[in-house]
Amino acid sequence: MQQLLIRLDDITPDMDWEKFERLAALFEQYQIHPVIGVVPDNRDETLHIQEPRADFWERILALKDKGWVIAQHGFQHVYVNRKSGLLGVNPFSEFAGLSYQEQYQKLRNGQEILRQKGISSTMFMAPGHTFDRKTLKALRKLGFMSVTDGYCSRPYRRAGLLFLPCTLSEPRLPKRFDTLCLHANGMEQAQFDALAEFIGRHRKRIENADVYLAESEHSACAYLPIGLVEERKNLLLRKAKRFAAQNETVQAYFHRTDSENPAEKRKMRVCGLPGLAFRLLFRRPYR
Ligand SMILES: [Zn+2]
Repeated sequence: MQQLLIRLDDITPDMDWEKFERLAALFEQYQIHPVIGVVPDNRDETLHIQEPRADFWERILALKDKGWVIAQHGFQHVYVNRKSGLLGVNPFSEFAGLSYQEQYQKLRNGQEILRQKGISSTMFMAPGHTFDRKTLKALRKLGFMSVTDGYCSRPYRRAGLLFLPCTLSEPRLPKRFDTLCLHANGMEQAQFDALAEFIGRHRKRIENADVYLAESEHSACAYLPIGLVEERKNLLLRKAKRFAAQNETVQAYFHRTDSENPAEKRKMRVCGLPGLAFRLLFRRPYR
């Protein structure tokens, strides 16, 4: 069965409200309850789009009452180093690489702010998808239950936390389970149109986050070893794809072994592999 969650990142009082409300209206139309990543004390200038809305917390609480799930999106959303954490997706972090005590304190500060506003969130959304083992330990200690992240095709449990994998940034049906990660601030018209079209067509595959979480608490999705092995494989594949897309020699190989005839293309690609390996190994580009 294919199951998709939707999450919205970078929810702050000074975000692009027009775009956010467009998404909210779309979700309302289809009765979708997404996850929203609220930054407790945003200090990231790149997320500052307009003047802060005074009724920010009221709006968030109203959405929570509707069934939207609120995740704590870091503390201040400021990257303090170039660590890439356990997933290695991005080389910057607000948490990974810091001491346990520092991480615990930041997470606790964020949690405290949300609590003062009437929100007790048990889901964590790491800025930049970066966290390490100490982050997970601190999250557990602070009572968090789940993390919206992971790079495999099914939810898994790790360090006492439920991981809900999140690898999609464009609307697409997952193999099994995935989360579509949207940043409203940067969305263009074409992306709104594509999303609306996708939801219209695949509403049945989109899970409501509140319902999904309530059910998954009792479900046996504890495939830790399988989950981790698959995650490693997917992350390696992702790295290889990125390397291939950026490497001139690999691009030249693709170009030289291209053919309209699929059988011919396959044959040329396979035959060209030893040559490609040699050129990559000894740094000899194609001429
Ligand atoms: Zn973010």
